[in-house]
Amino acid sequence: MSKKRVAVIGAGPSGLAQLRAFQSAAAKGEDIPEIVCFEKQDNWGGLWNYTWRTGLDENGEPVHCSMYRYLWSNGPKEGLEFADYSFEEHFGKQIASYPPRAVLFDYIEGRVKKANVRDWIRFSTVVRWVEYDNDSGKFTMTLHDHQKDYVYTEEFDNVIVASGHFSTPNIPYYEGFESFNGRLLHAHDFRDAREFAGKDILVMGSSYSAEDIGSQCWKYGANSITSCYRSAPMGFAWPDNWEEKPALVRVEGNTAHFKDGSSKEVDAIILCTGYKHFFNFLPDDLRLKTANRLATADLYKGVVWVHNPQLFYLGMQDQWFTFNMFDAQAWWVRDAIMGKIDLSAVTKEQMLADVKEREEREEADDDTKYAIQYQADYVKELVAETDYPSFDIDGACQAFFEWKKHKMKDIMGFRNNSYKSVITGTMAPVHHTPWKDALDDSMTAYLRN
Ligand SMILES: Cc1cc2nc3c(=O)[nH]c(=O)nc-3n(C[C@H](O)[C@H](O)[C@H](O)COP(=O)(O)OP(=O)(O)OC[C@H]3O[C@@H](n4cnc5c(N)ncnc54)[C@H](O)[C@@H]3O)c2cc1C
Repeated sequence: MSKKRVAVIGAGPSGLAQLRAFQSAAAKGEDIPEIVCFEKQDNWGGLWNYTWRTGLDENGEPVHCSMYRYLWSNGPKEGLEFADYSFEEHFGKQIASYPPRAVLFDYIEGRVKKANVRDWIRFSTVVRWVEYDNDSGKFTMTLHDHQKDYVYTEEFDNVIVASGHFSTPNIPYYEGFESFNGRLLHAHDFRDAREFAGKDILVMGSSYSAEDIGSQCWKYGANSITSCYRSAPMGFAWPDNWEEKPALVRVEGNTAHFKDGSSKEVDAIILCTGYKHFFNFLPDDLRLKTANRLATADLYKGVVWVHNPQLFYLGMQDQWFTFNMFDAQAWWVRDAIMGKIDLSAVTKEQMLADVKEREEREEADDDTKYAIQYQADYVKELVAETDYPSFDIDGACQAFFEWKKHKMKDIMGFRNNSYKSVITGTMAPVHHTPWKDALDDSMTAYLRN
C-alpha cells in the first residue's frame, strides 16, 4: 500500500511546528506519511521572514510579511518558548526576555535546521486551489512553482492549512481618505518608523498594532502620536506627546476629526485596524470563516475542520500563546493523521458540540486574565493528549500576567523586565540597554553582553 500523502500549506511557525512534529515521530522510528510543505515565499519563518517590500512580491503575489524593522517581541519570550528546544539550547546562554524579530527568526530557524526538514518544503510555490473529491477521498491541489513558472496538480490524503491570518488587511473607509494630504497606509505596509520622525501621526485602533506601531514611531522620533479607538481606549500611561481620542469621524485635508468634536492636524494616518482570515485557495465547503477569537468557528479541538476531518487548520486562533500552542496543535494533528488519535470515533455532532462548548466558555468572561488562562488550558488539553514534552504552562501564564502589569506600569519600559524560563528554570538577564534607547535591533546588538 502506498504511503499517505500530507500537504502542509505555509512554512511559518505553525507549518514548521507540523514538520517538526512529524520528524520527531520519525526520529522515534515511527512510520510517518509523506509530508510536502508548500511555501509561497523563498524562505521559511512566515511573518518573521522580513521583507522591505509591500504590495506585491517579486512574483506578483501579495506580500505576506506584516512585520517591520525594529519590531521586538510584544510579549515575553518565556510565554512562547518551544518545550523541545529552549532559548538556552539555541543561543548557548539565557537571553533577555523581549528579543527583536531577527533573534526570534534565528530561534525558529534553529529548531528546524536541527530537525533537518528543509527538504520537505517546496519554496516559491503558491497553493492556488484545493478541492476534495468524495469518491476518491483525496484532495487535489493546484500549485504554482514560481521558480519554474509551472502550474501543476497533486493529490493528498490530508491537508493542513498553516497559512496564517495576519496578512490580509481589514481596511475601513472614512470620508476624506481619498483627499488626505499625507501618507495613508495600513499596518500591513508599515516598515520603518524612521519615515515618521518629526511627523504628527494618527494610529487608528486600540490593539497591539496601534500600541506597537505608535510606540515605534515615538521611539524613532515622531513629533506626536494620536491614537483613536472605537470601543475603549488602550488606557496606558502614554508619554506627553501621545494622546488618545475617540473614533475618527472624517478627514479634511490634513485635519482628522473625532467623535468628541475635537480635531488634529496630522501628516500620516496608519490604519491599525486588524486582519482578515483569508483563504483564496479554498472553496466554500473547505474554507474557514471565523472572527479572530480564541474559539474559532468550525474547528474541533481548535484544529479539525468539522465538515471534513481530513482537513486541518493550525494557528487560526487569536493568540496569547503562539509557538508552543502551534506545537501543541501540530503534535495533536500529527497523531490524528497517524491514527493514534481516532477521529473516526467522533461524530460530526460531537465535533460541533465541542466547538459550541469552547465558544460558550470563551464568551463567559471578557477579562484578559481569563482569556490567557483559557488559552493556557487549551494548550494543556492538547499537550496532555500527545507526547509533546509537558511543560509548566501555568508558569508561562504567570509571565503573561506579569507582562500585563508591567505594561500598565510603564508602557515604554515594559520590555526592560525579565522572566524565568518555564523550560529550563533559568531567569533571563535584564537587557543591557533600555528598549527606548536600543535603536539597533540587530541580533549582534541584542546578544552582546
Ligand atoms: C505585526 C505582528 C507582530 C507580531 N508579533 C508577535 C510577537 O512578538 N510574538 C509572537 O509570538 N507572535 C507575534 N505575532 C503573531 C504571529 O501570528 C505568530 O508569531 C506567527 O508568525 C504565526 O505563525 P503562522 O505560521 O501561523 O503564520 P505566518 O507566520 O503568517 O506564516 C504563514 C505562512 O504561510 C505562507 N502562505 C500563505 N498563503 C500561502 C499559499 N497560498 N501558498 C503557499 N504558502 C502560503 C506564508 O508565506 C507564510 O510563510 C505577530 C504578528 C504580527 C502581524
